[in-house]
Amino acid sequence: MPTLETLAFDNAFARLPPAFYTRLEPEPLPEPYLVAASPAAAALIGLDATELARPEFPQVFAGNLLMPGSEPLAAVYSGHQFGVWAGQLGDGRAHLLGEIAAAGSGWEIQLKGAGQTPYSRFADGRAVLRSSIREFLCSEAMAALGVPTTRALCVVGSNAPVRRETVETAAVVTRLAPSFVRFGSFEHWAARNKAAELRQLADYVIDRFRPACREAANPYDALLRDVGRRTGELIARWQAVGFMHGVMNTDNMSILGLTLDYGPFGFMDAFDAGHICNHSDERGRYSYRAQPQIGHWNLYALGQALASLIGEPDAVQAAIEESYVPAFEDNFIAQIGSKLGLARRLPGDEDFIGDTFALLQRHHPDFTLFFRNLGQLSASAGDSPAADAPLRDLFIDREAADAWLTLWRARLAAEARPDAERQAAMDAVNPRYVLRNWIAESAIRAAQAGDFSEVEAVRACLSEPFRLQPEHERFAAPPPDWAAGLAVSCSS
Ligand code: AMP
Ligand code: MG
Ligand code: MG
Repeated sequence: MPTLETLAFDNAFARLPPAFYTRLEPEPLPEPYLVAASPAAAALIGLDATELARPEFPQVFAGNLLMPGSEPLAAVYSGHQFGVWAGQLGDGRAHLLGEIAAAGSGWEIQLKGAGQTPYSRFADGRAVLRSSIREFLCSEAMAALGVPTTRALCVVGSNAPVRRETVETAAVVTRLAPSFVRFGSFEHWAARNKAAELRQLADYVIDRFRPACREAANPYDALLRDVGRRTGELIARWQAVGFMHGVMNTDNMSILGLTLDYGPFGFMDAFDAGHICNHSDERGRYSYRAQPQIGHWNLYALGQALASLIGEPDAVQAAIEESYVPAFEDNFIAQIGSKLGLARRLPGDEDFIGDTFALLQRHHPDFTLFFRNLGQLSASAGDSPAADAPLRDLFIDREAADAWLTLWRARLAAEARPDAERQAAMDAVNPRYVLRNWIAESAIRAAQAGDFSEVEAVRACLSEPFRLQPEHERFAAPPPDWAAGLAVSCSS
C-alpha cells in the first residue's frame, strides 16, 4: 500500500504548456483537523485507513505539507454564467496537486479552499466548513447512487475565520477526478482565438481519456459527440434521482460528463418540476425541469468553441442533436421505466411516464419515497386498500393515487414478472436515502458545534443508499418542520 510519502504521481496536466495554468503552492491553513474522510475515495488512490489516521493527513490535505511528486497549479478557464459570457474565470480557490497513476486513467487530486490564486479575482480563495461538508457528502453519495461524479477524499477544517454573510470557519475539501477540464476550458481559448491552445487541449483530452475518438474520421467531431452522449446520460440520471445541480454554468460542466462543482445543489423532497434549489437563481434558469434544456444549451456553447477544430459549419449542430438528444431521452425513459419496475420498453411507455410526472406535479408526493414505496406494492390489486398504504399515504388525494395505480398495474400486467423479482429490481434502482437538504444541514450544524459524528453517519448511510439500514432510518424521512425554510445560495 502506498503512503502519503510514496503515492506515485504522474502529472500529465502539468506537462501542458504554461499558458494553461499557473504553478503555485497552497496557502497554509492554521492548525487543521480532520472533519471527514471517505475510505472508498481513499481506496481509489490506494490509501488505506492507516494513512487516514496519521497526524500528517490533515496537514497534507490542508495544503500545509506537500506530498513528494506533487506539482501544484491552478488552471485557467472561462465560461458562461447564468447564460451570459463571463470571460476569464479559473481555479480561484482550487489547487491541482497532481495526478496519481492508476489502472485506466489516473486520479487528479485537487484541494478546494487552499487559498488565493491568480484567478481569484476579488475573492478570498477559501471555502467554509458548511459548503465543504456539502460537497464532500454529495460527491460520495452520488458515486454510491451510480451517478458519474468527481469524488471527495476528505474535509479538513480550521478555526481560521472566513467572512461570508457571517463569519464562519475555513475548510478544504479534497476532490478526485480523472480530469477537472470543463466546457469553459475550451471556451477560454476559442474566445481568444488561440487555435494552437484549443487544439492542444482537445488533443490532451482525446489522447488521455477518449483514445477511441482518435480513430474517427474527425476526432474533434467525435469528441463533441462523446461529450454530448455522456452529458445526456448524466442529466438523465440527475432527473431520475431528483438531483438539481443549481449552478449549471459552462465552467461547471465536466468534459468527461461528471457531476462537477457542488454548491447550492438539492435533492427533490415533495415533487415540483419547477423547484429551484439555488436561492440566488431568482429566475429559475437551473430549476429541475430546466436541466435537460440547459444541458443542450451548454453543449452548444462547447460546440461553438470546438467549431473551428471540427471544420464543417453544420457539423456542430448535427453532432449535438445526434448525441445529446437521444442519449438524454433514451436514458431518461430507461431510468424512469426501471424506477417504475418495468423490465422492458413497450409502445406507450412514454405516455405512461408522462402521466406519472403529471401525477407527481399535481399532488407533490415525496419524490424519493414515491418510487421506493411503490416497490413494496404487489402487481395485483389487493382486496383492501391497506396493502397500497405505503404509496397511498404519500397522497392527500388517495383516489388520485388509486387511479394511477390502476394504470401502473395494467402496464405491469404486460410483463408478468414475479413480484419478488420486480421488487428486488426496484429496490436496486430506487434509493431509500438521498442527501436531502435537511440531512446535510443537521450534519453541518453538529459539525459547526464541534461534533463530526453526524457527518460520518450521513456518509456511511449514503454509501449504501439502496440498502435498508435500521440504524440510519431517520435519514429516510422527508424534511421535518424546522427545515421548511432552509435555503442554500451561491455563498460558499
Ligand atoms: P462557482 O460558481 O463556484 O463555480 O465559481 C465561479 C468562479 O468563482 C470560479 O472561477 C471559482 O474559482 C471562483 N470562486 C468562487 N468562490 C471563490 C472564492 N472564495 N475565492 C476565489 N475564487 C472563488
Ligand atoms: Mg465552479
Ligand atoms: Mg462552486
